[in-house]
Amino acid sequence: MTLADVIKKLEGAYPPGRAESWDAVGLVCGDPAQPVRRVLFAVDPVSVVVEEAVEWGADLIVVHHPLYLRGTTTVAADTPKGRLVHTLIKHDIALYTAHTNADVANPGVSDALARAVGLVGDLVPLQPFPDDPWRGLGRVGELPEETSLEQFALRAAAGLPKTAWGIRVAGDPARRVFRVAVSGGAGDSLLGTARAAGVDVFLTADLRHHPASEFAEEGGPALIDAAHWATEWPWLAGAASILDASGVTVETRVSATVTDAWTRGY
Ligand SMILES: [Zn+2]
Repeated sequence: MTLADVIKKLEGAYPPGRAESWDAVGLVCGDPAQPVRRVLFAVDPVSVVVEEAVEWGADLIVVHHPLYLRGTTTVAADTPKGRLVHTLIKHDIALYTAHTNADVANPGVSDALARAVGLVGDLVPLQPFPDDPWRGLGRVGELPEETSLEQFALRAAAGLPKTAWGIRVAGDPARRVFRVAVSGGAGDSLLGTARAAGVDVFLTADLRHHPASEFAEEGGPALIDAAHWATEWPWLAGAASILDASGVTVETRVSATVTDAWTRGY
């Protein structure tokens, strides 16, 4: 398989044209003609992930977050990102990003998150595209039965990979919950949409004090704030399965290295 073959499969599931206009998705480095045998999937293009790729002998790393989101004038090895680019090229490892195009895909990042925290049955986008009701940001679904906010929080914590952050809950632990909205990654911008959707609880990441506090004051759904990395990690297995199921003869591996920004809680 060449890198171009693998990219074609990934872009079938995550069309780059569906990425937000501010986003930077696609091939970051690598030669489309180079052979690919081993593909590592990870959330973040950071040094520990690149080290893991070198050690395993990966030819390609597929990541969720862009290495460069804004323009740069240097990939000098004395800059942290430039150092990564040097290491990747020296070891013939390509780097490929599927970010907001993976968020809005069907299935995408929030489908995997929804299943990881225990939602069952049909999932619909929290904020669907005007031209496609089955694609968009976030997902809304249901629990197998009504339960308490506390029980759902425990279920979510057990279903997500462990981080120092854990999960935080805003709302009465005894509150009954059944309909749930989830959104992988930073979900501040979807708070109003979650309330309008009439869900009982909204699970996302990177919520800030003021929006969360005002949301509770206004009687919004309960909130669960998980670690950013943990909400996106469940998607990696789904992305890897696209290659596994497509007849592309590559070996895939999902990195279990925790790359959440927060490394300790006290
Ligand atoms: Zn993210």
